[in-house]
Amino acid sequence: MKTIRLRTHKEDSLLRFHPWVFSGAIANADKGIKEGDLVLVENCKGVAMGVGHYAIGSIAVRMLEFNTDHLSEDFLHERLLSAYRLRRHLMLIRPDNDTYRLVHGEGDFMPGLVVDIYGDTAVVQAHSVGMHLWREKIAQELMLIVEGLKNVYYKSEGTLPHKADISDPKDGYLIGSEGTCIGIENGLNFSVDWLRGQKTGFFVDQRENRSLLQHYSADKRVLNMFCYTGGFSVYALRGGATYVHSVDSSEKAVELAQHNVDLNFPQGANHKAIAKDAFNYLDSLSAADAPQYDIIILDPPAFAKHRDAIKNALRGYQRLNAKAFRLLPKGGLLFTFSCSQAINKEMFRLAVFSAAAETGRKVRILHQLTQPQDHPINIYHPEGEYLKGFVLAVD
Ligand code: SAH
Repeated sequence: MKTIRLRTHKEDSLLRFHPWVFSGAIANADKGIKEGDLVLVENCKGVAMGVGHYAIGSIAVRMLEFNTDHLSEDFLHERLLSAYRLRRHLMLIRPDNDTYRLVHGEGDFMPGLVVDIYGDTAVVQAHSVGMHLWREKIAQELMLIVEGLKNVYYKSEGTLPHKADISDPKDGYLIGSEGTCIGIENGLNFSVDWLRGQKTGFFVDQRENRSLLQHYSADKRVLNMFCYTGGFSVYALRGGATYVHSVDSSEKAVELAQHNVDLNFPQGANHKAIAKDAFNYLDSLSAADAPQYDIIILDPPAFAKHRDAIKNALRGYQRLNAKAFRLLPKGGLLFTFSCSQAINKEMFRLAVFSAAAETGRKVRILHQLTQPQDHPINIYHPEGEYLKGFVLAVD
């Protein structure tokens, strides 16, 4: 194994088990290290700090194991098995719930790897070349560990570093070949298409927050903005909403949302899918004959993909939330989210606060929401907390 030697004091974060080594911390590296190599990280005195995957970029090593100079043979098997056992303990694997995240990168001590399970299919996403090179082995281990698994689809073209020098980053089946499936989440059915869909095909991370919406939806008029597959819409309808309108700028997304409503309510449901830009749609609601809503959900895509986009993103959140505050009647509820990793909870709260102040509405925080238990946050890696949300009472 090639070795990387750190500069003086640059091992401090590793002593606190933070799983990233930044390129600026490196004093020197063995000749010939390639992206994706397993490397030994030493402090300035040559003491082994641990082992990780090397990458070219600002995060130079993603640590897999600390306080060791090697990885055990069954490293992957053990980590994947432990991730699976956790989901079992969490009661996420049930006949009425076969859709969950099995591996959440650093949160499952496997930086660079995401695995979502939809029934008998696993969708594997690599964010590092190291994990990309391990994809076949990962697929084989998943087949051994996940009960009833038949297909493993690899989907990493959009998540691997752009400049990585890899000969075959192609998406495709590592095992099996079955296309779309119906994923079951809390007894509801969702058509999941990992081939054409966004990310791994479905946003598993809103499961608990959708349940909370269901709880408040009886006899309410609900607007689900940025609906994608219509997850929130289907839960609101199950909760007894008077009507639900789902809005997304993507035609395909609103078709999918309608399809998922039809799947769950074959006898029909009071639902309308609208393909429109969110900002334009909210603006159109100020017309006298526009529909009214008691609950609005705002779950936009990450506005800040990088640190340098934070300022604009916060302005975007403020503008969007202000529009929703203006529209809600007294006693209305706003479910508002940010999934930008670069924006922390305090920053998002400040953007929502500014939106409230701008409109002069009385706003109270009822719930502070985050990602669910199958997206665990490694306590040594606070960057892993990416989903933030509030349920707000608006008067
Ligand atoms: N709430 C969804 C996930 C939302 S993902 C769920 O529970 O699964 C974000 C969605 O926002 C995507 O479907 C994308 O098509 C849509 N989107 C992006 N920009 C938009 C815009 N300006 N107006 C409306 N929708 C937009």
